[in-house]
Amino acid sequence: MTASQNTFINDQIINDILEKYAKPDVAQIQEVLAKAREMKGLSLEDVAVLMGISEPKQLAELFETANHIKDTIYGKRLVMFAPLYITNLCANECTYCAFRVKNKAIVRRALNQQEIKRETEALIKQGHKRVLLVAGESYPKQGFQYVLDSVRSVYEANFNDDNIRRVNVNVAPLTLDEFKALKAEKIGTYQLFQETYHRDTYKTVHVGGKKMDYDWRVSAMHRAMEAGIDDVGIGVLFGLNDYRYEMLAMMQHIKELENVFGVGPHTISVPRMEPATGSDMSIAPPSPVSDDNFRRIVAILRCAVPYTGIIMSTRESGQMRRDTFALGVSQISAGSRTNPGGYEEEDDISGQFSLGDHRPMDEVIRDVAQMGYVPSFCTGCYRLGRTGQDFMDLAKPGAIKAHCGPNALSSFMEYLNHYASPETYKIGVELVERTIAELEGLPAERARKLVDRVNNGQSDVYC
Ligand code: SAM
Ligand code: SF4
Repeated sequence: MTASQNTFINDQIINDILEKYAKPDVAQIQEVLAKAREMKGLSLEDVAVLMGISEPKQLAELFETANHIKDTIYGKRLVMFAPLYITNLCANECTYCAFRVKNKAIVRRALNQQEIKRETEALIKQGHKRVLLVAGESYPKQGFQYVLDSVRSVYEANFNDDNIRRVNVNVAPLTLDEFKALKAEKIGTYQLFQETYHRDTYKTVHVGGKKMDYDWRVSAMHRAMEAGIDDVGIGVLFGLNDYRYEMLAMMQHIKELENVFGVGPHTISVPRMEPATGSDMSIAPPSPVSDDNFRRIVAILRCAVPYTGIIMSTRESGQMRRDTFALGVSQISAGSRTNPGGYEEEDDISGQFSLGDHRPMDEVIRDVAQMGYVPSFCTGCYRLGRTGQDFMDLAKPGAIKAHCGPNALSSFMEYLNHYASPETYKIGVELVERTIAELEGLPAERARKLVDRVNNGQSDVYC
């Protein structure tokens, strides 16, 4: 699809639906919640009904439904990752971001390949296995080749025979050929947030550089999928525009990808605007999303696209992150830095935005484990080629639990043996044993075998 052909974000339809379902009655809400429990996804109209809930009792029912879906499909697994910012150079002027070209308040830096390897080693030492490579939209003299080289450097980095096993990438929209080159570097997910699907708002907040082109951005996932990248991750920057509009527009994007490619996005991210150095807008977002509505967003997404991962970053506080695990979040970052070089050096002023959760990785892992969630470092699906449609085929009959459950436990055991503090180790081992004891049949058998193999010194074992 070329950039000028976007017709799938349809304002008229969105506004009509929002108006029609602004005040749903109890019967309508009950009907949608019952449909959500079938775990086959929801329509735009259904999503609008859930956004129209006003009674605390019905909101509690929505949360309960989201929790039921999360538990049934994902169990107590939480996938862990860390962002790796390779450069804060940027030629765009996004008014909410510290990296915008005219901002003089940050120190600019593009890591070289040696520095990227050192940053990666710092992440491996923390126990990470998945990295999300992030960059502003301006690369050193090698141009886009810099991104390709950087992906390779992350995979090549090594510490004590350990390495990063999946590199996801969040960089500006690419051409079809560039996406093909990125795919050839064996990336996991290509991630890109539309920021806002609302054309006029988009225009107001993107006032310089290539990113001003709405259509080039909204068509990026088509090019990525056409280039053979099966797993794509979408998102909205909440705070720019009415969240209800954005939710329906995001649903239109999802349905479009399903129609054209037979499969929707692998993940959805829910970044909420945080204060950024040199950005007045970020301190007073034009359409702020309250904590209550933020929880509602996560719960509705869990109901609407039950098999799509939901990613929660360290933009949010530890408490908000905890609240949303039960409502549908399936992946979290931990111990993050948003300034290039930040894992090796302390530099607070050159980050992209301020973080809500500053805790080191070990502390987050301990907290998650204490809540009964199993931190997963598994990268098995992607490495066995279970991506895109294949992943969904596996996921839909409920097989996620049979594979991902045991794999989460073995990868967590590997983390505990190599990287955990004594306190976290103790809590983690108890959780692993308790979780295996609660499993039954094939998943129980698999989990026991995989964890025993890890405890006998093997690494990177999965089914
Ligand atoms: N430069 C590329 C782009 O804009 O697509 C790649 C990634 S950008 C570094 C990552 C994301 O950070 C953006 O897509 C945006 O949603 C988010 N972001 C920017 N400013 C933010 C802020 N003040 N608070 C929270 N998230 C922000
Ligand atoms: Fe640059 Fe991305 Fe920040 Fe926009 S959001 S200024 S493109 S880094």
